[in-house]
Amino acid sequence: MWGPVYSEYPLEISKPLDLGNLKSMDWLIEKEGSLEIIKPPTHSDFEHELDRRIEKIKNEIKNDENKLSKTDKKYRKKKIADLNKTLNENEKFRDQLIVKTESIRRFLWCPICHKKNNARKFSNTENLFRVKCSCNAEWGLRDCSSCERPYPFIHNPNILQSDHLFNIDNSFGCDVLAFPNGEEYYCSHCGD
Ligand SMILES: [Zn+2]
Ligand SMILES: [Zn+2]
Repeated sequence: MWGPVYSEYPLEISKPLDLGNLKSMDWLIEKEGSLEIIKPPTHSDFEHELDRRIEKIKNEIKNDENKLSKTDKKYRKKKIADLNKTLNENEKFRDQLIVKTESIRRFLWCPICHKKNNARKFSNTENLFRVKCSCNAEWGLRDCSSCERPYPFIHNPNILQSDHLFNIDNSFGCDVLAFPNGEEYYCSHCGD
């Protein structure tokens, strides 16, 4: 169950047209057409800022609707339509963000002892990550030196190096992602 979850890293999210002051978070990076969540956020400032922004747009719309009957109807109507579009976009962005940050926080759950780890246990490079639990289990995405594709792995400290490969399925249960080979793993894509 964890393999496809880890393989989604980094989590992509579509970008609203105007990011404004929501830029430059250490856990959220800007790509050409989208944004990527590269680590679990440690606080929720971002969500609050987004909520404030959405409230502000809603108030602006209300304000314009109140003035609608007085002057410059055409201008107001256009402005309200534009504001509604911005509102929609920001609300969609917030909803997506909540779902995706929840998903990346799940990466902190230890697949072996089921502890919820602190975000500080998470380390990452551009497209790989790993988490190490206090139970010594380790999991994440590694890259294969042969095919260069990232593959998910779980290191279970309870498995002895001497265990025969055929026993591994029993020890990992359904969580075997990549078969260990000494300190390394067999890549789940190319088998190397
Ligand atoms: Zn653990
Ligand atoms: Zn490979």
